[in-house]
Amino acid sequence: MATESFGFQAEISQLLDLIINTFYSNKEIFLRELISNGSDALDKIRYASLTDPSVLETEKDLFIRITPDKENKLLTIRDTGVGMTKADLVNNLGTIAKSGTKGFMEALSSGADISMIGQFGVGFYSAYLVAERVQVISKHNDDEQYIWESAAGGTFTITPDTINEPIGRGTEIRLYLKDDQTEYLEEKKIKEIVKKHSEFISYPIQLAVTKEEVEDDEEELKDEKEESKIEEVEDDDKPKEKKTKKIKETETTNEELNKTKPIWTRNPQEINAEEYGAFYKSLTNDWEEHLAVKHFSVEGQLEFKAILYIPKRAPFDLFETKKKRNNIKLYVRRVFIMDDCEDLIPEYLNFVKGIVDSEDLPLNISRETLQQNKILKVIRKNIVKKCMDLFTEISEDKDNFNKFYESFGKNLKLGIHEDAQNRSKLAEFLRFFSTKALEEQTSLKDYITRMPEVQKSIYYLTGESLGAVRDSPFLEVLKKKGFEVLLLVDPIDEYAVTQLKEFEGKKLICVSKEGLELEETDEEKKLREEEAAQFNDLCQTIKEALGDKVEKVVVSNRITDSPCVLVTGQFGWSSNMERIMKAQALRDSSMSSYMASKKTLELNPSNAIIKELKRKVAEDKADKSVRDLTFLLFETALLTSGFSLDDPTSFAKRINRMISLGLDVDEEEEESAPAEDSSAPPPLEAVSTSAMEEID
Ligand code: ADP
Ligand code: MG
Repeated sequence: MATESFGFQAEISQLLDLIINTFYSNKEIFLRELISNGSDALDKIRYASLTDPSVLETEKDLFIRITPDKENKLLTIRDTGVGMTKADLVNNLGTIAKSGTKGFMEALSSGADISMIGQFGVGFYSAYLVAERVQVISKHNDDEQYIWESAAGGTFTITPDTINEPIGRGTEIRLYLKDDQTEYLEEKKIKEIVKKHSEFISYPIQLAVTKEEVEDDEEELKDEKEESKIEEVEDDDKPKEKKTKKIKETETTNEELNKTKPIWTRNPQEINAEEYGAFYKSLTNDWEEHLAVKHFSVEGQLEFKAILYIPKRAPFDLFETKKKRNNIKLYVRRVFIMDDCEDLIPEYLNFVKGIVDSEDLPLNISRETLQQNKILKVIRKNIVKKCMDLFTEISEDKDNFNKFYESFGKNLKLGIHEDAQNRSKLAEFLRFFSTKALEEQTSLKDYITRMPEVQKSIYYLTGESLGAVRDSPFLEVLKKKGFEVLLLVDPIDEYAVTQLKEFEGKKLICVSKEGLELEETDEEKKLREEEAAQFNDLCQTIKEALGDKVEKVVVSNRITDSPCVLVTGQFGWSSNMERIMKAQALRDSSMSSYMASKKTLELNPSNAIIKELKRKVAEDKADKSVRDLTFLLFETALLTSGFSLDDPTSFAKRINRMISLGLDVDEEEEESAPAEDSSAPPPLEAVSTSAMEEID
């Protein structure tokens, strides 16, 4: 017999060690995981049978059966699902690591619970919580029957199965239980666990109940009693073999443990919160209950029932795009069709879980025809609308909404970008920090209520962090006028807000871009025109000095304290966007040349530095220090306006020259110092204490 040995992939091996050696009392979840795998496998064969009914010929009944065997301390979980080929056994149970393997171990080391294992896609290995050795006997329609076996320890084996009875199709998991885990062979215990964790599995879960009886004349009375008891629980699908001899007789009957009808077909009024919670958990493998749920049906031209759930938090890999996620399960007239139907819900709502059961779709619908299906389009529209209702309901409770926004705020912002139809609805759920809401984020609606009467637009500033923008020079005039400014510090904010353009008829305006209108009075406008005329010479001189670095130099209306700021073109990137784009390594660099638009340097006419500079230029345009100071001002403005320096070394040199000047250090002397030693720290004597005191 050709037994082949394989090594577990390293992370899986580690995971098995962890599972075996961690002290953990809630071991019963292994059964939930194995049943859930059985159910997934049954889903797969049922789906395949919709287009090719012959795939079921190898085994017509679809079920999961649990068989305890006390004598051998063996617990068997069998399903008649799709089964695994030899390659599947090798790949899926040991050699191909999933991202969840590592993710789960990391989660465990930061305090997660082993019962969360299912969410990380490695539920199978929970078998080792209770078993010292596991066999997986599997038969796929495309291959022979094989035995996978492992007692952990880094390796597993695969053997063509010539020992066991052929199982037709599907998988049988045999758990050779550890000596102290035999409680899982008790009928009562198994029933309890199935009720608790697997009630909503949509295939029958059978428990093989074995009764032993002794056909003995002397105990005839007792026998009769037992007989009748058995009959009560029996399904009557197997005729009893009557034996006349006085021997021990065992009888096995299959008792169905999950007889409840699908929860979504029931009347919402008759379903309690616990039932919704239990269904959510069975649907998603989540260990926590949901944050919100909506159970509804649509009738009329088209009919369907649905339950939608919002989880409490984002899964660990929400934005891992490669992973297909089980969002909404699609059923057609109670028959499971598929669990990753992309066309049922837009991508930005990929965190919403649930089921949809349609009365109208054809049973044998394929993925390809689904895409164009009109019924599905209507269902999708309804689902999105109900999601909006759900969000509104959540937003009625502040704490809940904060939790929700923390987990899924990014999705809402993506929605603003992707879903033009629901854009204005989605905008109601946005929350941002602002100059008047630095502790707790504000909604746009609340922002509007605080707007002074003269203010016509909604203002915002984008940046890397609250610290980087809260005291930005761009806010100076707005703060003075009492205009609130939203501070957008999530990289996705700028995409969303640019798409949004306006909210309740108020334009959204970026305060670091050109052409900022600040509802000025005629007087203010006149004053600015005068200033522009007075500062014309200075503006020109500075523009000449800076050359291509800036597009224009003008007098500003938005700063009152700082000497100058750098603003960008209305349709180009903001400094924040430039930063984000620079950080995206693989982006097409041809874009940046015209999107990273030319900057305009705006001068503050009432700032002392600018005034003094103006005086110097008026005296002598060719003043040597003007050029140096101009560059310093420009480079400092780059920093305070959120840009990065292209050439920090020359900026540092200029600053150092200034420091020297302040300290009265002879510049000639400085420059004559050995040039090759530039990396060495400056001599300590250069900064004498007396000199320090002088500038103080
Ligand atoms: P998940 O179920 O999240 O994929 P598991 O660790 O529970 O992760 O299972 C790993 C894989 O092994 C499954 O995706 C499936 O391909 C395969 N598998 C496990 N149990 C069965 C089964 N009973 N029948 C068929 N395939 C199975
Ligand atoms: Mg699983």
